[in-house]
Amino acid sequence: MFATQSFMSHNPNLEQALKYYFGYDSFRLGQREIVEQALQNRDLLVVMPTGGGKSLCFQLPALLKQGLTVVVSPLIALMQDQVEALRDNGIAATFLNSSLNAYKVRSREEYILSGKVKLLYVAPERLLSERFLPFLDLVHHQVGISALAIDEAHCVSEWGHDFRPEYRQLKSLRKRYPDIPVFALTATATERVRTDIIQQLGLNQPNIHIASFNRTNLYYEVRSKTKHTYAELLELIRETEGSGIVYCLTRKKVDELTLKLQHDKISVLPYHAGLTDEERSKNQTRFIRDDVRVMVATIAFGMGINKPDVRFVIHFDIPRNLESYYQESGRAGRDGEPSRCTLFYSYSDVKTIEFLINQKPDPQEQLIAKQQLRQMIDYTEGTDCRRTIQLGYFGERFAGNCDGCDNCRYPKPIEDWTIEAMKFLSCVARCKERFGMGHIIDVLRGAKTQKITQYEHDKLSTYGIGKDKTADEWRILGRSLLHQGLLEQTSDGYAVLKLNALSWEVMRRQRIVSIAVPVVQKITWEEGNEKATEVELLLQRLRSLRKQIADAQSVPPYVIFADSTLKLMAQIQPRTLTEFSKLSGVVSHKVSQYGEKFLAEIRAYRQEQGLIEQNSSPFFGLPSDTELLTLQLHQQGLSVTEIAAKRNLRPTTIIRHLCDLIEKNQSVDLNLLVPVDKQQKILQVLEILGDISLTPIKEYLGDSYSFDEIRLIREKWRRESQK
Ligand code: ADP
Ligand code: ZN
Repeated sequence: MFATQSFMSHNPNLEQALKYYFGYDSFRLGQREIVEQALQNRDLLVVMPTGGGKSLCFQLPALLKQGLTVVVSPLIALMQDQVEALRDNGIAATFLNSSLNAYKVRSREEYILSGKVKLLYVAPERLLSERFLPFLDLVHHQVGISALAIDEAHCVSEWGHDFRPEYRQLKSLRKRYPDIPVFALTATATERVRTDIIQQLGLNQPNIHIASFNRTNLYYEVRSKTKHTYAELLELIRETEGSGIVYCLTRKKVDELTLKLQHDKISVLPYHAGLTDEERSKNQTRFIRDDVRVMVATIAFGMGINKPDVRFVIHFDIPRNLESYYQESGRAGRDGEPSRCTLFYSYSDVKTIEFLINQKPDPQEQLIAKQQLRQMIDYTEGTDCRRTIQLGYFGERFAGNCDGCDNCRYPKPIEDWTIEAMKFLSCVARCKERFGMGHIIDVLRGAKTQKITQYEHDKLSTYGIGKDKTADEWRILGRSLLHQGLLEQTSDGYAVLKLNALSWEVMRRQRIVSIAVPVVQKITWEEGNEKATEVELLLQRLRSLRKQIADAQSVPPYVIFADSTLKLMAQIQPRTLTEFSKLSGVVSHKVSQYGEKFLAEIRAYRQEQGLIEQNSSPFFGLPSDTELLTLQLHQQGLSVTEIAAKRNLRPTTIIRHLCDLIEKNQSVDLNLLVPVDKQQKILQVLEILGDISLTPIKEYLGDSYSFDEIRLIREKWRRESQK
């Protein structure tokens, strides 16, 4: 099995342990300190956002300590996932839950008592069962229990979003084994829940770690719903690679949208409480295993799943409150890779939710729900940095300008719409404050509806005075007037527009109305990188190889390798097992298990692309034949495009040749390739930033510098700094 002891005896360094067991090069913020304290047997409360890397905080200590760490985890699916991932890293982990038959349980128990298991996952109800406690005593006695890790610890609190009464009884374990340290972990941010966890679990002067809730890899955006929303959604799904979730408010909407998307050839399945348990779990598994790309779901979906490579979460309807939105959208990008969170917003959805809230019997509950909804609306309509608003909700201050939200990247211009506001409000007045927004807009735009004829509103002076603006624009104005308090609306379910004192000030021209106008734009989200297409091609091949291997073992693909590791593979294109083992996320177990397969795929790809020749030495030494040919043409004065055309290769391939030639100390005339002043500037930046990837260098230099120019000069700089 696994050589924990021998590892410890000659290598107590934590970074090395991290690489050894998990394949990562460095700890994330906070992880190291937590691991150190865990090793000192302190009680711990770890609050980290989803994807922050909580599991490692108890898994690594478990591997470094004597005995067994017992992990309490509320959901069977989650448990299986984690154990699969650990085993695939060559770590001795197992679980006990109701999905196992008596025979399996017994053999696992024996295995545990043999002392070979480091991590045992259990559901809380089992932990406290009559049969299990004596077993645990035995383990404690024979093998030792190194810690009790309680995952999703907020389940102990009634103030959290998924209270589980069984969690309350965990305190009795603390009493039974007072010497075993307890680690509580959660992603729930509120103060109240934290206090509750400490009390209810009986933590003993715990060290408390609260990480920032800023999920820097997530891009947040809000889009208003229009007639074209479905088309927009479709485009979003098509242009974003990888898995995604689309949340809808109701089962009916889930079913409708699923059908539509299926009709448009998107690989998608539904998930909601109306399906049978079997269907739900089947759909979920297919999603986790990448058999299907998109889930359309009610918020019932996602709680128990731990799919780290969800690349987008789209809320097709407004969530009930900001905390839910944070948690639900947070299911994107748990692996730290860039991911996108889009919220489609419409005022009529708000009305639906308001209506639902009004059905609640308890007035206090109604009040809270309405207040939360209000905050949600402020988030969607706000023009401030979305992160500032979200984090502010959790009591965390954030300065804004995150460059990772629509408001920061595309600030909405503020325009003076006083005249439009006057038209709108006087139309409300002429209609005697007895109609909702839809009708007012119809009148402004001179529509010919039955209602207009019936009330003779086509005779009003405001009939048709707003033809110059679209209905959507009028709606934006109308909502903004409501939010700025320049107009009122009844909350009896009819949403009749009513004027107030401020409305009259506007109509008397005593008040200016400014609104943030949404800019219509096609958002290009991913940074443009010319190498991207090439890497992308290889990445696709590596993905399908990963999928094949995963299917053969019946595990989700991310268990084999994380997306980030696959990307590194495509970028770095390792040629030997040693190079392969250096990639972040690769442990030695995986090198021996999958290394050759992936190397072969990379080799095949490189061969097809004309990137390697038989005799070429990969890193140093002599140029290959194909490189020499490029060099000849370059020395004859041909440009990169000309060489590419002549050789029937892509320009990026030629650039790569030139880079390799520079590396191999061949005389490439850079002055023919990059203007001298640019060369100097790039060199300066390299001196400041060091040897890093191209994108940040390009960001620093601006658009007038191409990736190729930077790549060439970086090669020269590398060459020279080696001397
Ligand atoms: P949480 O439980 O906090 O939501 P996880 O423990 O599932 O988060 O970790 C999220 C992702 O981050 C996982 O894919 C995990 O493998 C990865 N991860 C954790 N720690 C590191 C690290 N130090 N370096 C790189 N990746 C990490
Ligand atoms: Zn921002």
